[in-house]
Amino acid sequence: MKVTRRDFMKVTGLGAVCIAFSQVGCAALKPVKTYAAKIKIQGAHEVISICGFCSVSCHLICHVKDGKVISAEGDPGYPVSEGALCAKGAATLAMINSDHRLFKPLYRAPYSDRWEEKSWDWILDRLAKRIKETRDRDFKQFNHKKEQVNRVESMFHLGSSQLDNEECAVVHQAIRALGVVHFDHQARI
Ligand code: SF4
Repeated sequence: MKVTRRDFMKVTGLGAVCIAFSQVGCAALKPVKTYAAKIKIQGAHEVISICGFCSVSCHLICHVKDGKVISAEGDPGYPVSEGALCAKGAATLAMINSDHRLFKPLYRAPYSDRWEEKSWDWILDRLAKRIKETRDRDFKQFNHKKEQVNRVESMFHLGSSQLDNEECAVVHQAIRALGVVHFDHQARI
């Protein structure tokens, strides 16, 4: 039988494909299928969130299942960190699900040795009252040279790294309106 060059290529090509398939084979596909059925985020929905620890604000890809966050990883699509997280960001999942996590404000009264659970309304009213009392008590209209200063030196404000420029401007104006002159911002990176 005369074998042409084209016939030869067909036969050897088919043989190579058969060998390749025999190596992959049905048996090799099985473990892949089994693994896919076991991945931890199966059935969860994806939520993009932000690490709350510092001003880099690395994005997190979180997966939520049955109301619980089951995975929190860096987001490779976030251009600043490209999916990387520092130790604090990498601990996000443990922090979210920690038994030590507080869900309600705790208050310890002066001279008390125990913490009491309070509502946010109670805490915010208390803070407003204490700020007003302190401001009224310590407000200085003039300094020792009789120059008008209109300031309070007994309070300090620390801004949040998670605020944007406009939010910082509003906070700054509110703090200045009280006469507070000592403040800083937590954008430390
Ligand atoms: S650098 Fe770390 S702490 Fe700051 S946002 Fe990114 S992961 Fe969070």
